[in-house]
Amino acid sequence: MLGLKRNTVKLVPYDPEWEKYANESISELSSILGSAAVEIRLVGGAAVPGIRSKPILDIMVGVRQFKDIAPFFPDLESKGYIRKMENDSDSKLFVYANLPMGGDNSDPERRTHYVHIVIHGQTVWNSYTAFCDCLKKDPDLSKKYEQLKESLAARFPEDRRSYTMGKSEFVRRVLRTRCDIKERSCGAVVWRKRGGRRHYLIIQNRSGHSGFPKGHMEYGETEEQTAIREIFEETSLRVRLDTSFRAEYRYLVDGYIHKSALYFLASYTDGVFRPQAGEVFGIWLLPFEDALERLDYEQDRRVLRLAEKRLASDEQKAQ
Ligand code: ATP
Repeated sequence: MLGLKRNTVKLVPYDPEWEKYANESISELSSILGSAAVEIRLVGGAAVPGIRSKPILDIMVGVRQFKDIAPFFPDLESKGYIRKMENDSDSKLFVYANLPMGGDNSDPERRTHYVHIVIHGQTVWNSYTAFCDCLKKDPDLSKKYEQLKESLAARFPEDRRSYTMGKSEFVRRVLRTRCDIKERSCGAVVWRKRGGRRHYLIIQNRSGHSGFPKGHMEYGETEEQTAIREIFEETSLRVRLDTSFRAEYRYLVDGYIHKSALYFLASYTDGVFRPQAGEVFGIWLLPFEDALERLDYEQDRRVLRLAEKRLASDEQKAQ
């Protein structure tokens, strides 16, 4: 059986029926959402056989972009999946349900499903699925998680938020030490000639650092498609990509995401650049030395030096 009063915390023994309910729900969601859902998965405690859990299914729906899902909210609602907009965030749309699932759903406060709609292959999707996979693979680890949950449930039976916050350190430690989460972004060193000199486009992104336009690969995209789309979204520029230049480096985000960034070269001759609202907070077209100074990370400076060297040599060859 599934179902628990909202905002309460009560752990019950794992019920093998949960898997059946989850598969039914995943099929239903998949037939409503069609190709807008790239992948749908059960995550959270109820996905880990053998450990006590809240009797609620956490289902992740991975989409390419949030706008893909907008037309389906009325259909979801007609099947009992209600969007709770107050619980949405930049990285997640939130839907809950109170479906029978072996129980009585007459109490409107009861919850059987939390459906998290997230961008497939990005950090929220990667973290939830990786954490769940780690627990499933390692019974000792999942037992430790169960013990922590039990002590938190005893402390916070009426306070789901504190219960969830109490688990976060454990989750972070597992993500850092046991999961190998990889993410990849593609972009380009965008340049143009101005007054006879090469100028480079530098942007300041949401996290505050100055670098080149780039972004996460969407499901099914090639590296080149990602670079062109991201440059357009972040700067409004349509560029010509030179894929014979490839500069790549790796860095660690939040202590557990192994991220790689790949840059091509891209040129443009006309068009006005404009920063993407809410994502890009500064945008500059600068000569090489000034661009070098504007960049925050040594890895980006290395990429810019390589780009400048390559373009200077191309120019020499052409003369
Ligand atoms: P994307 O543009 O790929 O969608 P994002 O905007 O989510 O990515 P990143 O640019 O990857 O974010 O930045 C995430 C974190 O990593 C930030 O704290 C940023 O300062 C840091 N970071 C970015 N580039 C580097 C780098 N070359 N070396 C070290 N840390 C970096």
